[in-house]
Amino acid sequence: MNAGTTTSAVPESVGPLIERLVAFALHNRLLEPLDVEAARNALLDLFGLSEPAGAAGEAFDSEAELPDDPVAILEPLLDAAAASGLIPDDTTTYRDLFDARIMGLLMPRPSETVRLFRALAKEQGIQAATDWFYKLNIDSNYIRMDRIRKNGYWLQATEYGELEITVNLSKPEKDPKEIALLKTLPPAHYPKCLLCRENVGYAGRPDHPARQNLRVLPLELQGQPWFFQYSPYVYYNEHSIVFNGEHVPMRITPETFRRLLDFIERMPHYFIGSNADLPIVGGSILNHDHFQAGRHTFPMEKASVRDWVGHSVETGVAGGIVKWPMSVLRLRSDEREPLLRVADRVLQAWREYSDPQADIYAFTGETPHNTITPIARLKDGAYELDLVLRNNRASEEHPDGIFHPHRELHHIKKENIGLIEVMGLAVLPGRLKQELSAIADILTGAASYDQAAVADSNHPLAGHAGWIAELVREHGTSLAPEAAETLLRSAVGHKFRDVLRDAGVYKDDAPGLEAFARFLRTVGFEL
Ligand SMILES: [Zn+2]
Repeated sequence: MNAGTTTSAVPESVGPLIERLVAFALHNRLLEPLDVEAARNALLDLFGLSEPAGAAGEAFDSEAELPDDPVAILEPLLDAAAASGLIPDDTTTYRDLFDARIMGLLMPRPSETVRLFRALAKEQGIQAATDWFYKLNIDSNYIRMDRIRKNGYWLQATEYGELEITVNLSKPEKDPKEIALLKTLPPAHYPKCLLCRENVGYAGRPDHPARQNLRVLPLELQGQPWFFQYSPYVYYNEHSIVFNGEHVPMRITPETFRRLLDFIERMPHYFIGSNADLPIVGGSILNHDHFQAGRHTFPMEKASVRDWVGHSVETGVAGGIVKWPMSVLRLRSDEREPLLRVADRVLQAWREYSDPQADIYAFTGETPHNTITPIARLKDGAYELDLVLRNNRASEEHPDGIFHPHRELHHIKKENIGLIEVMGLAVLPGRLKQELSAIADILTGAASYDQAAVADSNHPLAGHAGWIAELVREHGTSLAPEAAETLLRSAVGHKFRDVLRDAGVYKDDAPGLEAFARFLRTVGFEL
């Protein structure tokens, strides 16, 4: 027995569940047939059992009965672990820590994963290799697909094309007991962050996820060790993270562009982009240099260029302003080096660029404000680089940022507008689901509407009070349920468009486009 004295007897169901899980792992090629005994024995040991259920391997031999998802087998195993005291508390946090530990016993070693990936890429091509690796990440429950599937998703037609709206319901809410526990934990120093390579195989803590089932692939970018992994949160198909082997801060430099192109040359079926390197306009992790990649066509990629124009020096490079609520310069070239030279010039110029007429200032004192969110892809055999111009200056009127969602939109979105949102996919907080449903009840008359009560700061819908009053004024309180839902989805979708407009440094109007052109002329574009 490896468990302490507080452990109660392990329920009898555990033996057959272990057999099922081993069969699942074998069927989905997490294990090879030669690995079966060792994996079974490791699971028996974890649960404090000295022998398997019945005749090992016979308890479960029909593949037809295997679930698509390991969760159906893991859930009763976690119940048993909780009942027998193997996990200290039957909370989502401890259950998540324990199921990663279980699945970690069924994984190939990190080096074995890399060998399999490389062999597949060589024999069947890079796409077959990423298909296999993505499925491994789902079958191992590192990507908790059962939770991802709960996310809300809809498309919103706008003058910029269809925007994608997601409501993030996959993050489990922590109960008060868990929150209280987190407050008692000492500050941790290992791994330095959620992106560090030291996460591979880490058992986790209540304040850090377990990663025994995480596998990463080494990737050399500009001669330096970087790594590729999938994101456990899957905001879009095959959502990947490409991270520096060292824990070094985010920095957008000419080298960044070269790394992005290195990546798409190796994985031409994926796009890749980087968050900007300044607060307010950057992502949530600024202290570890990383990119996000994946196999998904974002709304921004589908948006057209207003007018392609030539470059005065680099004749093989075309550029143009994308018809998009944010300020995007699209560069296109068949050749890598001329494209990179233009991108370098744009970055260097933008870092220093001020245009008082457009309210753009590169510095306040010594503090820099200008940066870029870059995205790279291969399209019809050509390199395409989208450079999204960003500025993180704040003012008295807009203390959270001038080019950041303004206050009247904060009830929908107040977080940073990072790479994913820049490209037209909104990741909205889970609280919205409940709130939108309560607002729908008002609009259908299912709940009574008391304008003063909603406006009270203690009311759960207080943040939406002004918006609700406007909706009621325009649409009344006797809508059919479907009509209320359609109305709210559309209203939220349009607010997301407005969020992106706020984040754009050049506005989508005649003075804004002229100011954008003014900048582009300074970097050699002929418009
Ligand atoms: Zn790190």
